[in-house]
Amino acid sequence: MSSWGKGGSRSWRKVRQEVLERDNFECQLRFDCCIWAATEVHHTTGIAGSMLARGMVEDEADFCVSVCQPCHQRVSARQSRAAQAQMNALRAKRRKLPQLPHPGER
Ligand SMILES: [Zn+2]
Repeated sequence: MSSWGKGGSRSWRKVRQEVLERDNFECQLRFDCCIWAATEVHHTTGIAGSMLARGMVEDEADFCVSVCQPCHQRVSARQSRAAQAQMNALRAKRRKLPQLPHPGER
């Protein structure tokens, strides 16, 4: 059970099934590694969860697409790389801040 349970009345398993049926069990990403047969569901945006939690969107399925396993792996890797780049940029910014001496360290 994910932490997302609060907003929706349906279980993730139900949403997943709905999304797969909506997309006719065909992968929506179609990368060059695509095998077409969708067996997994991918959240198209990471903010969907927080929007759901705030009641800004009603249907979790609107933020999901059916994907095959190879495409899912690829898009997940891509997303985590993007997240990593963001983190690195944030850290670089923080590093530029002037370092204050610790109290009592003089
Ligand atoms: Zn695919």
